[in-house]
Amino acid sequence: MKLLYPFAKRFIAGPDLKTALPAIRGIEESGYFSSIDILGESVSTRQQVEATKSEYLKLFESLSSINQSFDFSIKLSQLGLDIDKEFCTENLKQLARALGNHTIRLDMEDSTRTQNTLIICEEAHKTYPHLGQAIQAYLFRSANDVSHCIDNSISIRICKGAYKEPPDVALQSMDKIRTNFFKLACQLLKEGYQPAIATHDEKLLVELLKFIQQEEIKPESFYFEMLYGIRRDLQKILKNKGYRVRIYIPYGKAWLPYTLRRLAEKKENLCFVITHLFRETFGLRKLH
Ligand SMILES: Cc1cc2nc3c(=O)[nH]c(=O)nc-3n(C[C@H](O)[C@H](O)[C@H](O)COP(=O)(O)OP(=O)(O)OC[C@H]3O[C@@H](n4cnc5c(N)ncnc54)[C@H](O)[C@@H]3O)c2cc1C
Repeated sequence: MKLLYPFAKRFIAGPDLKTALPAIRGIEESGYFSSIDILGESVSTRQQVEATKSEYLKLFESLSSINQSFDFSIKLSQLGLDIDKEFCTENLKQLARALGNHTIRLDMEDSTRTQNTLIICEEAHKTYPHLGQAIQAYLFRSANDVSHCIDNSISIRICKGAYKEPPDVALQSMDKIRTNFFKLACQLLKEGYQPAIATHDEKLLVELLKFIQQEEIKPESFYFEMLYGIRRDLQKILKNKGYRVRIYIPYGKAWLPYTLRRLAEKKENLCFVITHLFRETFGLRKLH
């Protein structure tokens, strides 16, 4: 899988903290906000969970010398969700305590983990109100989850959803997912607490900008959020219009599942990978 690393580099800030720090600093210095994710998921031993927590603490220490706008993203399966729910909740609370006032945003994983993720988030949020939660517009249940989080003042990141889900659980057509995203995003912009609108979909963004202007939603009441390395043009346009743009910056050794999800999101990505691997394997480079 080392062959895929050149493609991963487009989507991740580096394989370790040392290589990722200049990218994180660069983004902060360019006037963006950042949410930093140490890659990893489906952790199956308590030892790995401890290692994840130490990595986040190390990251936190390294960032304390730069300005204060960064926050953290994490998957609960990195904190032991698949091992034991109580253990995972305790780990999240420990991390929230240690990271001070910096927000921790819980990524949403596949639908087998949705319910437990939301339960743990709600429980920990009672003591640590700076915890936020990602919600996926493709899930049928998300309208209820969004309303429930709004009622509990939990900050939400709304995204389309990146996992392959069955038709009894999630919308399957892009048009329907987009429509649901728009509906939930509008609700969050009007009623949510510091929501993040996480998409690179230009059509959606145009519609949302119209809504934001019509409803006179204040730029300081929400964020746009985009992934590191994707649609930097849109990131800049939104920032120049005066909106707050947060960049989700992943780094770390466990880059493969994240990279595969990004590659799968766009047909052109896969064609690009296949063509390059083919050229490399059979020595069909144009430049010699
Ligand atoms: C900040 C952030 C956090 C996220 N957190 C989660 C999460 O917790 N759980 C979860 O399931 N999903 C998460 N996602 C992923 C999300 O669910 C989608 O899978 C992803 O954002 C692609 O959908 P899109 O709305 O950007 O629109 P799309 O319609 O997929 O893309 C719109 C345009 O963006 C560009 N683009 C999008 N993706 C790529 C790519 N991979 N490579 C190259 N160009 C691309 C292309 O120009 C494309 O035409 C997150 C996304 C963002 C932006």
